[in-house]
Amino acid sequence: MSTANVERKDFAASKKLRDVMGQYFAELERGPAEGKKTAWCTSVGPAELLRAMGFNVYFPENHGAMLGASRMATDLIPLANARGFSPDICSYLTSDIGSYLKGASPLQKMKLSGPPKADVLVYNTNQCRDVKDWFQFYAREWNIPCLGVHTPRGTDAPDRDLIDFVSRQIKDLVEPLEKVAGCKFDPDRLREVIDLSRQTTMLWKAVLEAAAAVPSPITFFDGTIQMGPAVVMRGMPEAVDYYKLLVAELQERVANRVAAVEGERLRIYWEGMPVWGKLSPLSNLFMELRTCVVASTYCNSWIFEALDPADPFRSMAQAYSSIFICRGEEEKEAYIERMARLYKINGILYHDAKTCPNNSNNRYGLPQRLQQKLGLPYLVINGDLNDLRMYSEEQTRTNIEAFVEQLLQG
Ligand code: SF4
Repeated sequence: MSTANVERKDFAASKKLRDVMGQYFAELERGPAEGKKTAWCTSVGPAELLRAMGFNVYFPENHGAMLGASRMATDLIPLANARGFSPDICSYLTSDIGSYLKGASPLQKMKLSGPPKADVLVYNTNQCRDVKDWFQFYAREWNIPCLGVHTPRGTDAPDRDLIDFVSRQIKDLVEPLEKVAGCKFDPDRLREVIDLSRQTTMLWKAVLEAAAAVPSPITFFDGTIQMGPAVVMRGMPEAVDYYKLLVAELQERVANRVAAVEGERLRIYWEGMPVWGKLSPLSNLFMELRTCVVASTYCNSWIFEALDPADPFRSMAQAYSSIFICRGEEEKEAYIERMARLYKINGILYHDAKTCPNNSNNRYGLPQRLQQKLGLPYLVINGDLNDLRMYSEEQTRTNIEAFVEQLLQG
């Protein structure tokens, strides 16, 4: 198949993205010298509270993704396995701990010394148990506090009891965090941060929803790069400014019918984790096939519409407990159905990630139910977010090509 015209159309905003992300990491590095404390936080942990209490906030899952994308992960995972962390558990966890044990990080390529040492670790089990085990490893290594929120999972829409339970736990973090931060909690500052976080999240939603246009101006693969500020800079004005720029560029693309995938013929929904070490070959493959992966549950997971500065704690609880990953099957089914209609999907690709059962949604009959209901064909690919030993490039390519052929004939 020809590889002509498979160049990814980069966004003009991307230059700014590199600056914004570079500044974020540089601030983390400078933190201790400037007397700032560092909190590690899980991806949908109480980042707004931490930011409001003056912490620099670092997200090890982002580092996990960098280890995957730089293809350092596969060699680092065995170091964590040798310390007793199974090859079957989260490969973000094992590659990050391997990175720590070896003292090797993709951040060093950015002229930084590596991940910042934490003063406190704060998790939320809304996504999985692995994050708690991951943080507890560092708590033992550094003898620092590890605090957390335990969120019920697999339930339908969060009800009042669940929100009470979670918001009480977030409030209970304030006192121990004050001790680490060495300052008093300021509710007005929290409201400000939540306001900024909500603005970020709504702009991020607008970025992703631009892909509802035909042809789509953005792909899932672009989204995995563009999502950086939405993941690590919630509550910071720089994230708001960046997404305003990107949304304007996307609106221009839509108005001029600029396609992210030249000659778009088909539109696919990506369900599950990215295969971080293979983003580029997969993106090129879909370009060659003139098929746009327009949307994903993964990129959508950083849309927190419930955040409300007028009701900080309950709205954080509502937002963090409403994410797809902690919902029951019926809600997941209804969600993907809405996405399929919004993005005018021709088929769904499920990534069964070996080390993340939490984000592999093909294991309980969901693809079959959705196919029956919506008549949407599906494909399951086997792989992993970071451990490339679980992924066959050749087999995946053959399966995707056959799937596209099937969709074109349907
Ligand atoms: S949700 Fe999956 S990828 Fe994310 S931390 Fe948990 S096990 Fe790892």
